[in-house]
This record gives sequence, C-alpha cells and structure tokens, in this order.
Amino acid sequence: MYLINNFLMKDYGVILKNTCFFVLLLACLCMHPAQALQIVYPKTLNTQVCAASTFFIGSTEPGSSLKINDKDVKVYDNGSFVEVVPLSDGDNTVKIESSKDNKTDTLSYIIKRIPKSSLVVPEPVTEEFAPEQYIYASVIKDNTPLRAQPDENAKRITHLNHNTILMLNGKKGAYYRVSLSPAVNAWVRADSIVNYSTINGKMLASASNVVVSEDKLYTYVKTDLSFPSPYRIVETDTGLTMELYNIKENTADSQLFNSSGAVKTLAVNTVCADSQSTYYVELNQKLWGYIAYYEGNTLVLKIRKAPDIDEKSPLKGLIIALDAGHGGDDAGAIGPTGVKEKDINLDVSKRLKKLLEKDGADVVLTRDDDSGEPLYERPKKAQDNDALFMISIHANALADGADPYKKHGTSAFYYNRESIELAKTIRDTLTSQLGTKDDGVGMYSLVMTRPTMPLSVLVEIAYMIHPDEYKLLLDENFRQKAAEALKKGIEAYLLKMLQD
Ligand SMILES: [Zn+2]
Repeated sequence: MYLINNFLMKDYGVILKNTCFFVLLLACLCMHPAQALQIVYPKTLNTQVCAASTFFIGSTEPGSSLKINDKDVKVYDNGSFVEVVPLSDGDNTVKIESSKDNKTDTLSYIIKRIPKSSLVVPEPVTEEFAPEQYIYASVIKDNTPLRAQPDENAKRITHLNHNTILMLNGKKGAYYRVSLSPAVNAWVRADSIVNYSTINGKMLASASNVVVSEDKLYTYVKTDLSFPSPYRIVETDTGLTMELYNIKENTADSQLFNSSGAVKTLAVNTVCADSQSTYYVELNQKLWGYIAYYEGNTLVLKIRKAPDIDEKSPLKGLIIALDAGHGGDDAGAIGPTGVKEKDINLDVSKRLKKLLEKDGADVVLTRDDDSGEPLYERPKKAQDNDALFMISIHANALADGADPYKKHGTSAFYYNRESIELAKTIRDTLTSQLGTKDDGVGMYSLVMTRPTMPLSVLVEIAYMIHPDEYKLLLDENFRQKAAEALKKGIEAYLLKMLQD
C-alpha cells in the first residue's frame, strides 16, 4: 500500500511538473506545421528483425532532402522514399533526417537483429502408440489440413471434412499422426480433432453404391460409406484420381462406369492390402474445378462441367468472383505516403466488375466495401454462387531482407495445377498492357489460391513499396488500365481453352 501511495504521489508530481512542458510544447507545435516526416514501415520505433536488412518506407514534404544514417536517400516527387538498410546482429540505431528550408525533422529507430539460430525451438519427441493400437478420433471442422510433417509449414497432403473419422497411431508436439494406409501416415493438429477412445486394430470403412449423375453445371460421383473416411484427390493429365483411405471393401470394386457429363470413364479399384480404394476419373473435358465433401456418410466428388463459351463474346453468361484483397482492420501493405492496399484492391475490383458485367458476365464481389469479410468466407461465397473463376486482387510488398528496387512488377499465384494456365495468361496480359516488369507466376499456398473450385488465381498488380509502381497505383487511369488488362486476361484464357 505504501509503495502504491508513494508511487502515486511521485506520479502526480511528474504530471504537475510536466504541465508546463506540455504548454510549451503546444506553443511550439502551433508555431511550426506538423512534422512532415512519416514512416509507415517499420511500424514501431523499436523493432526486431531476423533478416540481414530491413527497409524504411515513408514520406516527407516533397522537395526535402533526406538522409538515413548520413546516407543521401532519393525523395520522389510525391515525397515518397524507400530505402534498404543493412543490419548487424544486435541493436542497430537508424537515424532519419529530413530537411527543407533550414528546418529538420529527425526520427531515431532501434532495430534489433536476432540471429536465426536463437529462434530454434527444441524438437519434441514422437510418442509411439503400442502396435495395432489406435486412437479413434473425429475432425471438428471443414478444411482441416492433413500435413506431411508435424509442422504448420509442412506440405498439405489433403484437407479433411468435418466429422471425418481418423485412426491415430502416434503423437508429436501439437500433432497426432494419422494412419492412412499401412505404409502412409500424415499429421493433424490435436486441436482440430476430438478423441473418442483407444481401440485395438484399425477400424476400416466399407464403400458401396457408386453413382455418377449430373445437373446443369456439375457432374457428381457419389459413394456411400459406412462412416466418413479421409481421402485425397490428385489432378492428372486426363482428369482426377481420388484415393479413399481406410477402406476394407468397395462393392464397386473393378467396375468401369461410362460417360456422364464431364466424366468420360470412372474406374473403381480397391486393393485390400493397403486398405485404399482408388477412383480413376477420366474426363472428356479440361478441369474447370472440382470439390469433394461428405453429405452424411456419402462422399460427393463434384466436378464442374465445361462452360459454353461464345467465341464472339466469351464472358457472356459466366459467373466470376472477384476478391478485393484485405479490408476492414486488415489494411494489407501500406504505401510510402500512407495509402492502404485494401483501398487500391477494392477500387480495381469495382472497375473490373463494371467491365465484366458490360460484356455479359455475372460478377460476385467477396466484399464491396471496407467491411473485413473473413478470409475463409471468401472462397465459400464464390463457391456458393457457382463462380467459374475466383480472382483475388492485390498490390504487393516484401518481407525484411529483400530489396524493393530489385524485386518488383506484376505477378500471379496459383496452388492447383488446374489454375496454372489462368495465372500465366493473366500475368501475360497485365505485363503487356501495363508495361510492368514480369515478377513471375508461382505456386503459393494461400487461402485464396488453395480452393480447387472455382479456378483460383491471386494477382499482384504492382508493388505498394516500389516508389514508381506506387505512384502508378495511386493513378486512377492506371487502375482502370489494370482492370481492363485483367478482363482481357480472363477473356484470353477462355478463348485459349476454346482452341485447345
Ligand atoms: Zn495483399
């Protein structure tokens, strides 16, 4: 109590003394304009970084001269600057001075570089269950990743549906090991399942009643199971292969199903020794998206039928989902003068929507204002609306350690093989129409690229943290051109599919 009172008294003393200081400070602020020097990155005066360099992104009054640690830094005509600053291990003091008309603004940052090795956490040991002993568990939410290793960055083998029954045969850290077949294991996070009980011997499902059917937009392959088991779908040159795990029998074993909708042939095969039932789905068309899910104990493989494309107006009648990246509390990247990526993305999306609708397409926007539409809801919205494509629109930034003057331009990302060509075509059209540098097409595991339906591509129009590209992104003529190029890219893809 004494300590608290003493502290409070001391504190009041400080406040009283400081009142005079604040009055003086306010008087100073009134005489001089607000500080023109603004740093948008790093976000705080004290920051920790692992990389060998960081960059300073910000703006000052146009026409100012700028020094970072006494080195002259170029200030662009809108006041923007971006500078890479090399870092040594430990504390690095970075002093930024902006001067104009005998007035100097100064900011000082402490960037602590932590050597990567100090971040290594000791690896947990694997807890092996007794031979033939399994924990019988159930998945608690849709889209639960099953990974190749017990690590959140490890490759995703497949995604599990809610209520899928798993056979667990080991544990390591926050992960359980899942037995898919006698030879194949994968890993699932312990917090994404509920454990039922320990059993001796593996519980295997029976599959029966395989049916192929179709409606206007999709072809369905449906299989009844005794309980939902894990499965994996692989894209092949001729269609899809679906591996269904922990299966003791499939009454459609060795059967060949003939053409229906998108499916040319379906062959079902069960090899008892590895308790796996494999579905070889040969398509009579290209892959236009697919998805699998459980309806109760029925596994449904839903395949998108090829759209009717009118050569003269290819967009007519198609449903396209556009996703303006970020939104709400998530600003995305922030440009040197403080403009937020989320606002650029939304503007381009709205422009593209108008252009696509003018040419007869129906457009679904995952967000049409600054509401922070949850990330996982976005692909769902596209799927629920039967969209054929989902294009996520972004403007890029880099992590510490990179050089924004070397790596910049336009890029496009995909995750599934079926979307590679769409990503390439959009990148090609954007770079040729906008004159931006080709920053590549890459496979990247993201919420907006992972969906297998619709065909999903994430495009980075240009960089928010490259001063010249940032200036372009702020120009509405450029944003209109970007929207036109995106429309042309989608059209070019449709026409290409018509020719192949
Ligand atoms: Zn983004």
